[in-house]
Amino acid sequence: MFSHESTFELRERMVREQIRKRGIHDRAVLQAMLDVPRHEFVETRNVEEAYGDHPLPIGGEQTISQPYMVALMTQELALKGGENVLEIGTGSGYQTAILARIAGMVCTIERIDSLLAQAGKRLERMGYSNVKLRNCDGTLGWPEESPFQGIIVTAGAPGVPPPLLDQLDQGGRLVIPVGDRFIQTLLVLERHGKRFKKTRSGGCRFVPLLGEHGWEDDRR
Ligand code: SAM
Repeated sequence: MFSHESTFELRERMVREQIRKRGIHDRAVLQAMLDVPRHEFVETRNVEEAYGDHPLPIGGEQTISQPYMVALMTQELALKGGENVLEIGTGSGYQTAILARIAGMVCTIERIDSLLAQAGKRLERMGYSNVKLRNCDGTLGWPEESPFQGIIVTAGAPGVPPPLLDQLDQGGRLVIPVGDRFIQTLLVLERHGKRFKKTRSGGCRFVPLLGEHGWEDDRR
Protein backbone atom coordinates (compact mmCIF):
# COMPACT_ATOMS: atom_id res chain seq x y z
CA MET A 1 0.00 0.00 0.00
CA PHE A 2 1.16 3.54 -0.90
CA SER A 3 4.49 2.18 -2.10
CA HIS A 4 5.91 5.29 -3.75
CA GLU A 5 4.59 8.25 -1.82
CA SER A 6 4.06 8.88 1.89
CA THR A 7 0.46 9.63 2.81
CA PHE A 8 1.49 13.25 3.52
CA GLU A 9 2.78 13.55 -0.05
CA LEU A 10 -0.50 12.10 -1.31
CA ARG A 11 -2.38 14.75 0.67
CA GLU A 12 -0.10 17.51 -0.63
CA ARG A 13 -0.86 16.40 -4.17
CA MET A 14 -4.60 16.12 -3.42
CA VAL A 15 -4.65 19.68 -2.03
CA ARG A 16 -2.55 21.10 -4.88
CA GLU A 17 -4.27 19.39 -7.81
CA GLN A 18 -7.86 18.82 -6.71
CA ILE A 19 -8.52 21.62 -4.24
CA ARG A 20 -6.32 24.73 -4.73
CA LYS A 21 -6.55 24.49 -8.51
CA ARG A 22 -10.36 24.63 -8.26
CA GLY A 23 -10.21 27.84 -6.26
CA ILE A 24 -10.30 26.84 -2.58
CA HIS A 25 -8.22 29.50 -0.82
CA ASP A 26 -9.21 29.43 2.90
CA ARG A 27 -5.91 28.70 4.67
CA ALA A 28 -7.51 26.87 7.62
CA VAL A 29 -9.41 24.59 5.23
CA LEU A 30 -6.30 23.84 3.15
CA GLN A 31 -4.31 23.09 6.31
CA ALA A 32 -7.01 20.78 7.69
CA MET A 33 -7.16 18.89 4.37
CA LEU A 34 -3.38 18.45 4.59
CA ASP A 35 -3.49 17.30 8.21
CA VAL A 36 -6.37 14.78 8.31
CA PRO A 37 -5.33 11.27 7.17
CA ARG A 38 -8.22 10.52 4.80
CA HIS A 39 -7.03 6.91 4.27
CA GLU A 40 -8.03 6.19 7.90
CA PHE A 41 -11.67 6.97 7.10
CA VAL A 42 -12.18 4.55 4.19
CA GLU A 43 -12.72 0.79 4.09
CA THR A 44 -9.50 -1.27 3.94
CA ARG A 45 -10.30 -2.49 0.41
CA ASN A 46 -10.44 1.15 -0.82
CA VAL A 47 -7.40 2.49 1.00
CA GLU A 48 -5.35 2.84 -2.22
CA GLU A 49 -8.05 5.15 -3.57
CA ALA A 50 -8.41 7.29 -0.46
CA TYR A 51 -6.81 10.36 -2.11
CA GLY A 52 -8.61 10.00 -5.44
CA ASP A 53 -10.79 12.79 -6.87
CA HIS A 54 -14.12 11.08 -6.12
CA PRO A 55 -16.41 9.81 -3.35
CA LEU A 56 -15.98 6.23 -2.05
CA PRO A 57 -18.42 3.72 -0.54
CA ILE A 58 -18.33 3.39 3.26
CA GLY A 59 -21.03 0.72 3.75
CA GLY A 60 -24.80 0.97 4.27
CA GLU A 61 -25.08 2.37 0.69
CA GLN A 62 -23.43 5.58 1.91
CA THR A 63 -20.30 7.43 0.79
CA ILE A 64 -17.38 9.52 2.02
CA SER A 65 -17.64 12.68 -0.09
CA GLN A 66 -15.15 13.77 -2.77
CA PRO A 67 -12.25 15.72 -1.15
CA TYR A 68 -13.02 18.87 -3.19
CA MET A 69 -16.67 18.85 -2.04
CA VAL A 70 -15.56 18.54 1.62
CA ALA A 71 -13.20 21.51 1.13
CA LEU A 72 -15.79 23.62 -0.72
CA MET A 73 -18.55 23.05 1.86
CA THR A 74 -16.16 23.79 4.72
CA GLN A 75 -14.96 26.99 3.03
CA GLU A 76 -18.59 28.07 2.51
CA LEU A 77 -19.12 27.91 6.28
CA ALA A 78 -16.52 30.74 6.57
CA LEU A 79 -15.31 29.56 9.98
CA LYS A 80 -12.82 31.74 11.85
CA GLY A 81 -12.24 29.36 14.77
CA GLY A 82 -14.14 28.71 18.01
CA GLU A 83 -17.61 28.25 16.45
CA ASN A 84 -20.27 25.74 17.49
CA VAL A 85 -21.00 23.73 14.32
CA LEU A 86 -23.72 21.19 13.52
CA GLU A 87 -23.08 18.50 10.91
CA ILE A 88 -25.90 16.33 9.57
CA GLY A 89 -24.60 13.04 8.11
CA THR A 90 -21.50 11.92 10.04
CA GLY A 91 -20.84 9.02 7.63
CA SER A 92 -17.16 8.06 7.98
CA GLY A 93 -16.38 11.02 10.27
CA TYR A 94 -13.93 12.56 7.76
CA GLN A 95 -15.82 15.84 7.32
CA THR A 96 -16.29 15.90 11.11
CA ALA A 97 -12.51 15.72 11.60
CA ILE A 98 -11.91 18.56 9.11
CA LEU A 99 -14.47 20.72 10.95
CA ALA A 100 -13.08 19.79 14.38
CA ARG A 101 -9.65 21.15 13.34
CA ILE A 102 -11.14 24.58 12.67
CA ALA A 103 -14.26 25.03 14.85
CA GLY A 104 -14.57 25.08 18.65
CA MET A 105 -17.15 22.27 18.90
CA VAL A 106 -18.69 19.95 16.31
CA CYS A 107 -22.06 18.33 16.99
CA THR A 108 -22.63 15.60 14.43
CA ILE A 109 -25.73 13.51 13.73
CA GLU A 110 -25.95 10.24 11.79
CA ARG A 111 -29.08 8.11 11.29
CA ILE A 112 -27.19 4.81 10.71
CA ASP A 113 -26.06 3.57 14.09
CA SER A 114 -23.23 1.32 12.82
CA LEU A 115 -21.64 4.18 10.82
CA LEU A 116 -21.88 6.52 13.80
CA ALA A 117 -20.27 3.98 16.14
CA GLN A 118 -17.39 3.39 13.72
CA ALA A 119 -16.86 7.13 13.15
CA GLY A 120 -16.98 7.77 16.91
CA LYS A 121 -14.26 5.18 17.56
CA ARG A 122 -12.05 6.60 14.80
CA LEU A 123 -12.39 10.19 16.01
CA GLU A 124 -11.70 9.16 19.61
CA ARG A 125 -8.63 7.15 18.61
CA MET A 126 -7.34 10.19 16.70
CA GLY A 127 -7.79 12.38 19.79
CA TYR A 128 -10.67 14.67 18.75
CA SER A 129 -12.15 15.82 22.06
CA ASN A 130 -14.36 18.60 20.61
CA VAL A 131 -16.89 16.33 18.91
CA LYS A 132 -20.36 15.29 20.18
CA LEU A 133 -22.13 12.47 18.32
CA ARG A 134 -25.79 11.55 18.16
CA ASN A 135 -27.83 8.83 16.45
CA CYS A 136 -31.16 10.32 15.29
CA ASP A 137 -32.94 12.15 12.47
CA GLY A 138 -30.71 15.13 11.73
CA THR A 139 -33.45 16.99 9.84
CA LEU A 140 -34.73 17.94 13.31
CA GLY A 141 -31.35 19.44 14.26
CA TRP A 142 -30.03 19.35 17.82
CA PRO A 143 -31.99 22.05 19.71
CA GLU A 144 -30.26 21.45 23.08
CA GLU A 145 -26.87 22.33 21.56
CA SER A 146 -28.09 25.31 19.49
CA PRO A 147 -27.52 28.04 18.41
CA PHE A 148 -24.96 27.05 15.78
CA GLN A 149 -22.73 29.49 13.96
CA GLY A 150 -22.38 26.93 11.17
CA ILE A 151 -24.60 24.08 9.95
CA ILE A 152 -23.50 21.66 7.22
CA VAL A 153 -25.74 19.01 5.68
CA THR A 154 -23.80 16.30 3.84
CA ALA A 155 -26.78 14.60 2.17
CA GLY A 156 -29.10 15.86 -0.58
CA ALA A 157 -32.36 17.42 0.66
CA PRO A 158 -35.68 18.17 -1.09
CA GLY A 159 -35.72 21.55 0.72
CA VAL A 160 -34.17 23.31 3.70
CA PRO A 161 -35.41 21.68 6.95
CA PRO A 162 -37.11 24.48 8.98
CA PRO A 163 -35.61 23.31 12.35
CA LEU A 164 -32.12 23.95 10.94
CA LEU A 165 -33.06 27.55 10.08
CA ASP A 166 -34.40 28.00 13.63
CA GLN A 167 -31.18 26.67 15.16
CA LEU A 168 -28.84 28.87 13.08
CA ASP A 169 -27.27 31.77 15.01
CA GLN A 170 -27.36 35.41 13.82
CA GLY A 171 -24.67 35.79 11.14
CA GLY A 172 -24.37 31.98 10.98
CA ARG A 173 -24.16 30.06 7.71
CA LEU A 174 -26.02 26.92 6.62
CA VAL A 175 -24.58 24.89 3.74
CA ILE A 176 -26.91 22.32 2.19
CA PRO A 177 -27.35 20.47 -1.12
CA VAL A 178 -30.96 20.93 -2.30
CA GLY A 179 -32.55 19.33 -5.35
CA ASP A 180 -33.98 15.95 -6.36
CA ARG A 181 -32.84 12.52 -5.11
CA PHE A 182 -29.95 12.38 -7.61
CA ILE A 183 -28.66 15.87 -8.35
CA GLN A 184 -28.62 19.03 -6.28
CA THR A 185 -27.42 22.65 -6.02
CA LEU A 186 -25.24 23.60 -3.07
CA LEU A 187 -27.09 26.38 -1.22
CA VAL A 188 -25.54 28.73 1.34
CA LEU A 189 -27.91 30.60 3.66
CA GLU A 190 -26.65 33.35 5.98
CA ARG A 191 -28.92 34.52 8.79
CA HIS A 192 -29.64 38.21 9.38
CA GLY A 193 -32.47 38.67 11.88
CA LYS A 194 -35.41 36.75 10.45
CA ARG A 195 -34.01 36.94 6.92
CA PHE A 196 -31.72 34.48 5.18
CA LYS A 197 -29.39 35.68 2.41
CA LYS A 198 -29.21 32.86 -0.14
CA THR A 199 -26.34 32.13 -2.56
CA ARG A 200 -25.70 29.15 -4.84
CA SER A 201 -22.34 27.41 -4.92
CA GLY A 202 -22.61 25.04 -7.90
CA GLY A 203 -24.02 21.63 -8.68
CA CYS A 204 -23.40 18.48 -6.66
CA ARG A 205 -24.52 14.89 -6.24
CA PHE A 206 -25.21 13.49 -2.76
CA VAL A 207 -26.95 10.45 -1.29
CA PRO A 208 -30.45 11.43 -0.09
CA LEU A 209 -31.18 13.08 3.25
CA LEU A 210 -33.86 10.83 4.78
CA GLY A 211 -36.15 11.88 7.60
CA GLU A 212 -39.05 14.02 8.73
CA HIS A 213 -37.89 17.09 6.75
CA GLY A 214 -35.99 15.07 4.13
CA TRP A 215 -36.90 12.29 1.69
CA GLU A 216 -39.01 9.32 2.67
CA ASP A 217 -37.09 6.10 3.34
CA ASP A 218 -38.65 3.98 0.56
CA ARG A 219 -37.29 0.72 2.01
CA ARG A 220 -39.65 1.02 4.97
N1 SAM B 1 -19.80 13.60 5.86
C1 SAM B 1 -19.61 12.21 5.57
C2 SAM B 1 -18.16 11.81 5.50
O1 SAM B 1 -17.29 12.70 5.59
O2 SAM B 1 -17.90 10.62 5.40
C3 SAM B 1 -20.31 11.78 4.31
C4 SAM B 1 -21.75 11.69 4.50
S1 SAM B 1 -22.68 10.71 3.37
C5 SAM B 1 -22.46 11.55 1.84
C6 SAM B 1 -24.32 11.19 3.93
C7 SAM B 1 -24.68 10.65 5.28
O3 SAM B 1 -25.90 11.26 5.69
C8 SAM B 1 -24.92 9.16 5.30
O4 SAM B 1 -24.06 8.54 6.22
C9 SAM B 1 -26.39 9.02 5.70
O5 SAM B 1 -26.67 7.89 6.48
C10 SAM B 1 -26.61 10.31 6.46
N2 SAM B 1 -27.99 10.76 6.59
C11 SAM B 1 -28.99 10.75 5.67
N3 SAM B 1 -30.11 11.26 6.20
C12 SAM B 1 -29.83 11.60 7.49
C13 SAM B 1 -30.57 12.19 8.56
N4 SAM B 1 -31.87 12.55 8.43
N5 SAM B 1 -29.94 12.39 9.74
C14 SAM B 1 -28.66 12.04 9.91
N6 SAM B 1 -27.90 11.49 8.95
C15 SAM B 1 -28.47 11.28 7.74
